[in-house]
Amino acid sequence: MDSAKPVKVLPLTDENLRAALPPARKPIELCSVCRAIGGRVSKLEKGGDVTGAIPDAVGYLREFMRLGENVATNWLEICSECGALYYAERSYEFLIGGSEDYESYSVITHDKVLELAEVSWARKPGAELHAFEDGTWRIVVDPPKNRPQRRS
Ligand SMILES: [Zn+2]
Repeated sequence: MDSAKPVKVLPLTDENLRAALPPARKPIELCSVCRAIGGRVSKLEKGGDVTGAIPDAVGYLREFMRLGENVATNWLEICSECGALYYAERSYEFLIGGSEDYESYSVITHDKVLELAEVSWARKPGAELHAFEDGTWRIVVDPPKNRPQRRS
């Protein structure tokens, strides 16, 4: 999956990032998926104990944007019905006597996406925003230097 070629490569600027975020297709309160999710949801599984729950409606979200090649536990998902963005977190920690598996989803506004810590970390010279054919995006903080350069 990491070898997929982007269809568009842009410098990572707030302007480009904002332009990549999709406009809402309908008000979130009229969206059956978002209403079924009903706000921030999380689930923590620790040594057989489960706290919280992830509603089935989360299955109608799909991946929208990776927040950097070294950020594996947090990303953005998009609601397939209304276009709302969700900040997703999935982490697994192996601990002797009770590993922890944590998962959460919460709606995030476009303004808040620009304020995310992951986005702040990515604001480095040379960072790029890659668009893929399937409609997903990826922030690439340190693009490979050996990509063929187009000369004009
Ligand atoms: Zn929705």
